Amino acid sequence: MIIVMKNGSTKQDVEKVIEALKEHGLGANLSTGSQATIVGVLGDKAKLGGFDFELMDCVEKCVPIMHSYKLASREMCPDGRVVQVGEEVIGRKKLVMMAGPCAVESEDQITQAAVGVKAAGAHFLRGGAYKPRTSPYSFQGMEEEGLKLMRKAADACGLKVVSEIVAHDQIDTAGKYCDMLQIGARNMQNFRLLREVGRSKIPVLLKRGISSTVEEWLDAAEYIMSEGNYNVVLCERGIRTFETATRNTLDVSAVPVVKERSSLPIIIDPSHAAGKSKYITSLSLAGIAAGADGLIIEVHPNPKVAMSDAAQQLTPEAYATLFQKVGALAKVIGREMQ
Ligand code: PEP
Ligand code: MN
Repeated sequence: MIIVMKNGSTKQDVEKVIEALKEHGLGANLSTGSQATIVGVLGDKAKLGGFDFELMDCVEKCVPIMHSYKLASREMCPDGRVVQVGEEVIGRKKLVMMAGPCAVESEDQITQAAVGVKAAGAHFLRGGAYKPRTSPYSFQGMEEEGLKLMRKAADACGLKVVSEIVAHDQIDTAGKYCDMLQIGARNMQNFRLLREVGRSKIPVLLKRGISSTVEEWLDAAEYIMSEGNYNVVLCERGIRTFETATRNTLDVSAVPVVKERSSLPIIIDPSHAAGKSKYITSLSLAGIAAGADGLIIEVHPNPKVAMSDAAQQLTPEAYATLFQKVGALAKVIGREMQ
């Protein structure tokens, strides 16, 4: 349930409402938006018994949230949430650009990738150190050593680091090196992992599950937020359909749907959607035109010899060209790149 405060209500009025919630064993999520101040009720509203907030002078109305996800809902925060990662702000006018190899493979490779994507204008360096591979015999990632190398390369260039974890016991180690932790498509419903990453308070990039609906995805985000971590960015990376021409089908329509139903920022991963480097630019432009808040793209200094996802990784040169095109589109739709 949300409690909409009357226009002109004071800080003291809001405090009164929050205090009343506390007295009933409930928490509050405050949203001071452009239209109204909203107090979101955290916890089971049955605890209120017969208490009616609408009887308070400062309250305009109480509105139930009909979705299973509450904190992630648009109703709870109508102006949209922003996720701050250092000086980078995700979910406002500026598009956030994350790029780097599928996996960290060596110091040379991640350093070249970092230099390349930074030169193009990227804000985050991506790179997997714990790789969720379909086959147990495929390269599984460099683990902590890879994270160290990525941090070093990113720091040398002034980039933030985003990297995937696949198990909750990796959070402490990854948290030492990463600014943002990625939960991959295969782990979108690993509820233990979601809760633990929620407790960590480290910003999270939550990818959409391969066969998950938008509702299931937002419920997964709710798991993280319910532990007190509101720093969640969603990432649409393509879903499994009958189509085989691409690795996955990029669900561009998920962008406006998520924007309507949720307050969370959303970015697009065209790389894992397309599976082929030649389609990445088109899908990037489509995602941004649809209203996404940024892109995460696989870039490798020499894609042909990549140890994973070779077919979909861009060269730094191709990424720089893509960046320019997205920049031109950004201007037209009132967004910025830097
Ligand atoms: C990745 O980003 O490296 C990755 C494995 O992506 P996804 O979870 O979307 O497949
Ligand atoms: Mn990959």
